[in-house]
Amino acid sequence: MGAQPSTPAVAAGPTDPEPASLVTLSVPDRAAMERLVASGADLTERVRPQADGSVQVDAVVTESQLEALRPLGATLASEARQSPPQARAKAAAPQDQIVIERAVWYESRDGYFLSVEASSSAAQAADLTVSWRGKKGTTGQAEMVAYVDAGQYLGHQFSTPVPAENQPQSITVTSAGGGQAEAKVRQWPDGDKPDRASRGYQKDFVTQYMTPAQLNERVKDLHRRYPKLTDLITLPYKTNGYRRHAQAVLGTPPAAAVVVTSDAYGSEGGNDLSVELVDPGAPDRPLQASLDGKLVTVSLATDASGALVSTAAQVTAAINAAAGLPVKASVYRTDPGAGVMAPAPATQLDDFLNAPADVSREPAEVLALRIGVHRDGSRTGVLAYSQEHAREWVTPLVSIEAAERLLRNYAGDNATRKLLERTDVFIVPVVNPDGANYSFYDFNSQRKNMTNHCPPQQSDPALRNQWGVDVNRNYAAGSVHDGYVGGSTNCQSGSYAGPAEHSEPESRNVMWLADTYRNIKFAMNVHSYGGYFMWPPGAYQAEGRVTLPRPTPEEEEFFLDSARTIEEAIVAERGTVIWPQQTGPVTDVLYSAAGNSADELWYDYGIYGWDFEVGADLWNSETRRWEPVGFQPPFSEGHQEAMEFAAGLISLIGIAADYRDR
Ligand SMILES: [Zn+2]
Repeated sequence: MGAQPSTPAVAAGPTDPEPASLVTLSVPDRAAMERLVASGADLTERVRPQADGSVQVDAVVTESQLEALRPLGATLASEARQSPPQARAKAAAPQDQIVIERAVWYESRDGYFLSVEASSSAAQAADLTVSWRGKKGTTGQAEMVAYVDAGQYLGHQFSTPVPAENQPQSITVTSAGGGQAEAKVRQWPDGDKPDRASRGYQKDFVTQYMTPAQLNERVKDLHRRYPKLTDLITLPYKTNGYRRHAQAVLGTPPAAAVVVTSDAYGSEGGNDLSVELVDPGAPDRPLQASLDGKLVTVSLATDASGALVSTAAQVTAAINAAAGLPVKASVYRTDPGAGVMAPAPATQLDDFLNAPADVSREPAEVLALRIGVHRDGSRTGVLAYSQEHAREWVTPLVSIEAAERLLRNYAGDNATRKLLERTDVFIVPVVNPDGANYSFYDFNSQRKNMTNHCPPQQSDPALRNQWGVDVNRNYAAGSVHDGYVGGSTNCQSGSYAGPAEHSEPESRNVMWLADTYRNIKFAMNVHSYGGYFMWPPGAYQAEGRVTLPRPTPEEEEFFLDSARTIEEAIVAERGTVIWPQQTGPVTDVLYSAAGNSADELWYDYGIYGWDFEVGADLWNSETRRWEPVGFQPPFSEGHQEAMEFAAGLISLIGIAADYRDR
């Protein structure tokens, strides 16, 4: 009775990428989690410590990538759940001192939850239990988890917020070592509540996920309708384009195979070419490559008996040495080159791009919409930029929805008018349009841009889903090139930082905005998913977990106070509360992300650089578990996420409107 698969399973050919899927991985502890980050695995931005000390993280992996991660301690969480939890070693330590750092309750649409952070002088060896008393005599109890990052003990917390029947009022943290501490429970986020929207306030302007072309149309349309309130800025660096060279694999991998790649992009003639390997049918013939029209013919060499003798290495060399051929060749990655090639019928080259012909293959323009009454640099600037990561389809909707709310309500809503009088807003809905197109039409888990920096041995078409640069690891502050953790120098890695800092037009565009409009003081980098609200530092060095410099206490306080106010605006939409343990510096609440944009904006430009991870977990009241929403939830969910985080973005613009340089 189950649904039939829409496409029949077919045997994978030499040009077919290995299928990838979004899974939840489990690793035994935080140290193993760090090894995963350092390995360059394609991790999502959702990390969840578990009650037994293990850590779960969502990742996009193929079968063979998963096998490669197993030696690092990774298993599928579904497998991990089947094995009995390991007993935690009890430490026979002297009585420890307990400090409660934060105890908060919150009410979301799913009820009351409690979140506690505490630390013990016995560090990670301590076994801490929280018991609480609440209104109407409710009580409860839950275990805490030690949080150890890069060998450093950061304290204990709950793996996820714990449901509480009613509002918890006081807690006692008890250690198996004998230590104890008590605290009152405060409300979270407890920031400034958003202003009541005026009557007639308009919102809800997104009706579907949007491709880059649709987003650009929308931005241009907003500029046409509101010429007095907007400027359309075409950013100076065009992307490399949604395009690839055309390829074919001749022979039979893993042995005796050759990859042929067109000089021209597929869309510029590469897809029209064909290549064949022919048996000359006579003894003692030389190896020759030639072109006739759009057909490349390689006539294989024969010996005195007429047997074919050309190896893959020789065929490759012959193609590359022949004058005037519109292709290059390389030996297939698994073939040492010594295998003798068999004849192959004419095979047409293909760029393997599936978008309809009306999706432009040209280098793409990246647009920013500048919104404000006074767009002369005299007002506090706010930059919001989305979809650095291609598969995060909800993120451009957040910025488009915010732009529409600002423009459509300017005439009728006093609070909006104040925002546009006092601020200068720059909105970039899609930083990485080529990757976004690839995510829509070819490989929906695409994270990076489309530019392939891999050498020929890693450039056969079956690897095409692994190419590209992680735009949010391509920036200069705290980058992998400076020894920071969380970017990769492997061109196939999910977090490949690129051949150099700022090697990619996508990252140069973001920095161009910061460089050009020096009034920008605030920035929001919109990502998904997981429900986080973060700020610098976003990276540390492996040795000793030395982070980029911490903001001053005053700056930290400003980051946190602003976050609480912005989170109130998010709550107001549908009761989604960003967890306190997911509100904070990137390195503390997620993982080290070397070379990310928020760090560069903060450290090099003094811009308060925040990151949203939209798409908070949904509470399943039946299983009593938090469940991830994924990158491309059903639109009904994506739409809700866009509404709540657009409200958060407008709240940030409100903070900018009240900001005075200190
Ligand atoms: Zn992201």
